[in-house]
Amino acid sequence: MTEKEELIRKWQETGLVKDKRLIEAFKKIKREKFVLKDNLSHAYGDYPLPILGGQTISQPSTIMLMLEALELKETDKVLEIGAGSGYNAALIATVCSKGFVYSTEIVEELIDFAKSNLKNAGINNVEIIHSDGSEGFKKGAPYDKIVATCACPEIPELWLDQLKLGGIIAAPVGPMYAQEMVRLKKTKDRLDIKTLGDFMFVPLKGRHGYE
Ligand code: SAH
Repeated sequence: MTEKEELIRKWQETGLVKDKRLIEAFKKIKREKFVLKDNLSHAYGDYPLPILGGQTISQPSTIMLMLEALELKETDKVLEIGAGSGYNAALIATVCSKGFVYSTEIVEELIDFAKSNLKNAGINNVEIIHSDGSEGFKKGAPYDKIVATCACPEIPELWLDQLKLGGIIAAPVGPMYAQEMVRLKKTKDRLDIKTLGDFMFVPLKGRHGYE
């Protein structure tokens, strides 16, 4: 069994991934195309890997946990904060094949990296935006789903404003070196909030990032 197949087996056995479309997307998108050349042999290791600008591509199991929590639909319009390598956006775009992904990235040197990785992978329903995603991205709003792949001190009000009624946010929330994964659903008169375990992500920068 390849390392990639091992991961899939583990996710199915443990029930971490129930949505078969996520497994299909994971099979289809080559993670090799999103990691640095030096890390090619680690592309399917279940840990984060360094990319450019001191940032990381998240651990595969963590990505899957977040995508599962988002309950993605084929037609969803999704906002990602933290494009990084573009890998997570590629997975979302594959599941949301009739939808669209806006992915913001604040570190300039990652913009071309993400864009060219996505192009290489043949993904054309993602737009990479060089902006401060802590303010969301008003032009594409309202969103069905919002996902942050960086640690947030709290969920910025603007993200809630830019989320549709019935929409879901998945984001690691907490202090800089220890976050809880939060899944939040916006309903008519309240926010349904669940937590999904402890994680450590690179920090959210920008206006609503850490002090
Ligand atoms: N989703 C990425 C993982 C990126 S790591 C992947 O699949 O590879 C988190 C990213 O969030 C980093 O690239 C970091 O630069 C970015 N980031 C941090 N603060 C941000 C902000 N305010 N707006 C947009 N991106 C931000």
